[in-house]
Amino acid sequence: MKVGIMGGTFDPLHIGHMMAAEAARETYGLQEVWFMPSHIPPHKHEAGVSGADRLAMVQEAIHNHEAFRTLDWEVVRGGVSYTYETIRRLQEAYPHFDLYFIIGADMVQYLPKWNEIEELVQRLTFIGVGRPGTPIDLDALPTYIAEKVLLADMPLVDISSTMLRERAATGKSIRYMVPEAVFDYVQRSGLYGIQPRSSD
Ligand code: ATP
Ligand code: MG
Repeated sequence: MKVGIMGGTFDPLHIGHMMAAEAARETYGLQEVWFMPSHIPPHKHEAGVSGADRLAMVQEAIHNHEAFRTLDWEVVRGGVSYTYETIRRLQEAYPHFDLYFIIGADMVQYLPKWNEIEELVQRLTFIGVGRPGTPIDLDALPTYIAEKVLLADMPLVDISSTMLRERAATGKSIRYMVPEAVFDYVQRSGLYGIQPRSSD
């Protein structure tokens, strides 16, 4: 079974993440895509919003998609989330899976810096999607990494979670930049400085 893993902080989940997962699923015939919120990624500080909230936003956003699932392992485990550790565990639990890890262009170019990247490229194939600001240049990567990166086309989405957090904090709308369910959740829970609003 071909399974894609869509890893991220999802602080918050936005339409760029959704489109990346769908583009990878469609292009490579993935039977399922598992969205996996990290607890603390090695290259970042702790997210402002709890793992439980970030996981809940993902769950609410994807539950209508027949092929999308969530994987809560990194959030439940806590601490710094190393992808190689999680992937080791995944392969022990599901040895028959053919694993793909979906990433945006910024992460493609950053792959040489991932912990235990030599091991990761043995265990899975990456699927890279475009993202404004960082052209994908596989020639700039070591060959042993570049040959394990497939590309999927999608319309470029100039949205990042950082930009959404900034917009929300300054009173600007993030509606339609995030899935409707995420927008509802953020409003309901009063995340990112948005005033909580009881449903009327
Ligand atoms: P932040 O600004 O907090 O880093 P982000 O928007 O980059 O948030 P992440 O959770 O860091 O989102 O990203 C998870 C994965 O999704 C990464 O592989 C990233 O490259 C990819 N991704 C994020 N935004 C986009 C986008 N707009 N288009 C394509 N891929 C994206
Ligand atoms: Mg990011």
